[in-house]
Amino acid sequence: MHAENEVHFRDAAAKALLDPQLRANFRRAMDGLITKRKAQFPDPRDLQDLRDLSTAIRSRSLLCLPELLEQLEASCARNGIKVHWAETCEQANQLILGILQAKGAKTLVKGKSMVSEEMHLNAFLESKGIEALESDLGEYIIQLDGETPSHIIMPAIHKNKDQIARQFSQKIKDAKYTEDVDELTAMARKVLRQKFLDADAGLSGVNFAVAETGTLCLVENEGNGRMSTHVPPLHIAVMGLEKVVARLEDVAPLYAILTRSATGQAVSTYFNLITGPRGAGEKDGPQEVHLVILDNGRSRIYADPQLRATLRCIRCGACMNHCPVYTRVGGHAYEAIYPGPIGKILTPQMEGVGVRHDLIHGSSLCGACGEVCPVEIPIPEILVRLRREATHDDMASTVAGKATGRTATEDWAWRLWAGVTKRPALYRVATWFATRFGKALPANAPLIKNWTQSRTKPVPARRSLSERMRAEGASHE
Ligand code: SF4
Repeated sequence: MHAENEVHFRDAAAKALLDPQLRANFRRAMDGLITKRKAQFPDPRDLQDLRDLSTAIRSRSLLCLPELLEQLEASCARNGIKVHWAETCEQANQLILGILQAKGAKTLVKGKSMVSEEMHLNAFLESKGIEALESDLGEYIIQLDGETPSHIIMPAIHKNKDQIARQFSQKIKDAKYTEDVDELTAMARKVLRQKFLDADAGLSGVNFAVAETGTLCLVENEGNGRMSTHVPPLHIAVMGLEKVVARLEDVAPLYAILTRSATGQAVSTYFNLITGPRGAGEKDGPQEVHLVILDNGRSRIYADPQLRATLRCIRCGACMNHCPVYTRVGGHAYEAIYPGPIGKILTPQMEGVGVRHDLIHGSSLCGACGEVCPVEIPIPEILVRLRREATHDDMASTVAGKATGRTATEDWAWRLWAGVTKRPALYRVATWFATRFGKALPANAPLIKNWTQSRTKPVPARRSLSERMRAEGASHE
């Protein structure tokens, strides 16, 4: 299975590299984001102070995660928010379906939520006769084309305005062709405004959930999050169980570093604090609010002290914007919900390191992702650890799919290596042959062809170390 997937990523990446339009779209967008982020942090010491504080808050939240989740449930219940727990995506989908059916809801308008992408919620609801419409502009654009997000913050970043102009003129009723961004936005707004008014229910993600107060925080720029959560009579929020923080005061530094790292903004246009359904005498807000908390492998990740750092992620996307692989191949090449560096460590942990062997090897390990991550997730170290887990059966490890990524060729090669190195006479013969004839080995020979695809062929030295030591009179002792 892993061999099949490995070919997928390599093929998809190779195909993306041959698409000059895609590369230009990504290059332009990522360069802009890198410049804007940099401008937000003119003093490296201020940045480091904010990173230290944010890392400490996220680490502290994870340290007492079970207690905070219980506290969150109690605080939400006090506020009138109904909390539901789902171990799997299937359970979460069924829960949401149940909530919608209980209210007779047939249309759902959605704010941005990567967890709902993880659940493939739209397809699930559509199979049950419920229309789920994305209202974030980027999500709306890709939904029109039946695509998945190519970036966690900017889902349609792979498209330029000419492509969107063509798409709108073909897919939106009565839309004329225009490349004017304001006119394009107005067209989408016209469609969505009516949908907000008509929708039976709204669904959103959660950036931070505050255990102390039972507050759901939502960061956004378009106002669609507010419309999705306030206009329809029913609001359902979905979140991964790691999104909880202890106190309201924890949110301010995380918010400050999130918007700066993500889009280079000091603050986002909207910041919603949702504390429950509409109160008596209030003029707006939903009559019912539900919170669905999804596990989907997160507790297993949480159980490992090193891998737990993965759950510190605040989904800012900065690691993608700075990744030399992602910026050249784009998000779709990963064939995963979460692309780029965070996806390379999160997806294999959720789906199994053997199944997504392709992703853990799709990295140059340059370290840029770890350097920019606002909550200091050691992505390169975790990648190296997952590469080891993919091929070793460590009894103490809880990593999904451990050791299943070991191919028959690798197995054979390591057995051969062990067999030769355990027999000094055989080892001497093998090194004699390697030093004399290694150069003649073709670059596309089985075990080295993956390496030589993008690198020069390794050539053994003309004499082995033992031979040189003997020649120079050095003792083996
Ligand atoms: S891993 Fe770090 S940089 Fe990447 S999305 Fe998460 S918080 Fe942002």
